[in-house]
Amino acid sequence: MVEERNDSKKAQRSIYENVKMQFSKAADIMGLDLNICKILACTDNEIQVHFPVKMDDGRIEMFCGYRVQHNNVLGPYKGGLRYHPDVDIDDVRALATWMTWKCSLANIPFGGAKGGIKLDPFRYSLTELEHITRRFTFALGMNIGPEYDIPAPDVNTNPQIMAWIMDTYLSTMPADERNRNIHVVTGKPIASGGSLGRDKATGQGVVLTIQEWAKDHDFELKGATYTMQGFGNVGSWAGRLLKPLGSTLIAVEDHTGAIYNKEGIDPDELTAYVQEHGGILGYSKAEVIDHEGFWRTKADIFIPAALENQITAETAHWLDVKMVAEGANGPTDPEGDEILQSKGIFVIPDILCNSGGVIVSYFEWLQNKRSEFWDLEEVDGKLHKIIIKAYRKVQGTALELNTDWRTAAYVVALRRLERVYQERGIFP
Ligand code: NAD
Repeated sequence: MVEERNDSKKAQRSIYENVKMQFSKAADIMGLDLNICKILACTDNEIQVHFPVKMDDGRIEMFCGYRVQHNNVLGPYKGGLRYHPDVDIDDVRALATWMTWKCSLANIPFGGAKGGIKLDPFRYSLTELEHITRRFTFALGMNIGPEYDIPAPDVNTNPQIMAWIMDTYLSTMPADERNRNIHVVTGKPIASGGSLGRDKATGQGVVLTIQEWAKDHDFELKGATYTMQGFGNVGSWAGRLLKPLGSTLIAVEDHTGAIYNKEGIDPDELTAYVQEHGGILGYSKAEVIDHEGFWRTKADIFIPAALENQITAETAHWLDVKMVAEGANGPTDPEGDEILQSKGIFVIPDILCNSGGVIVSYFEWLQNKRSEFWDLEEVDGKLHKIIIKAYRKVQGTALELNTDWRTAAYVVALRRLERVYQERGIFP
């Protein structure tokens, strides 16, 4: 079933084309300066590396890795690293571009980048993954750096992988510069310079935006139901944080299959199960359902927290929810978007909804630069302030331009970028 889904994904338009369509729509509506439009329509740098790694059995395997830097007019390039067999240059271009919009919308001093390695990480041992990560970092060389381009976790990467990247990067620097540069990555383990609250930050941002939407719509989250695609970092944290608010998870799909329980699936228990078994399939307190059954499950909220291009012309017709909170990047394609709008389903767009991760990454970067350690209350409080401010700005812009929230979020981001280019001008 997963293979069938992946095949249909390949037949779709690339997500880079989706980003360009979303960008054109927003640029037209706001009347973006045509010269600045030309700049933002391109990526700054595209790095592709091929590198050899010795496997546990002594064989050498070649890998292909990418880092795309879209724009850094607002600050150093920033964005995650993804390990997935479907990663290609177009995906990474799209994800890097979304990072530029996301950082601009949140008003944090970063540009946009993304990277990844084309591989199925589940096929490799931990030692092999360490060697692949270290060799990729070495191949990227000075294309990343704490004041230049700062990676973070994304799909199938985690704090351990960030620690290996940091260690490799620092090991290749002069001895007196090593300890000053641990902010070369964010999303590190706490003991290695990570920030409290970074692990849950993206899921927390998703929940904060859902709470804000609920307030605005007089919607009671206590007793509400939701379904979720993807139960990794973003999904499982969103679930764990929705639980104390009284909302019930009734269906989940991940790369291993889909499960359903109308009485509710406990996000804490499911998290523990996934940590042990690598996926949701086999979880005993829910029944197995098929892909279409998952998408047709009636609920109040749907949280896509897996991959892009999931809400399409087909699946948008199946969805029977009031609201979609985009935890994933680019989960909805333009056709899916139109259908959601025609069905009156409200969408909290990805560049707002999942921005909690990069916002707390910014806090980690600041703490490292200042040799500070903030307590969790401080991190949570600052995240709340920034994401709600962005939420209100999008809301105001949607009303001002009488447009959907995705376009409004783009307009907020693009207006900031446009202003900076106009002030700074173009060299020489
Ligand atoms: P993760 O690797 O922790 O989890 C990914 C989840 O997606 C897993 O549950 C996996 O089983 C599921 N999945 C993979 N292929 C699938 C398929 N074909 N069908 C259904 N489910 C599938 O990754 P994550 O960090 O939670 O990222 C999830 C999404 O959130 C991605 O779009 C990512 O770019 C986005 N995002 C992540 C962060 C972050 O801080 N980690 C920040 C912003 C956005």
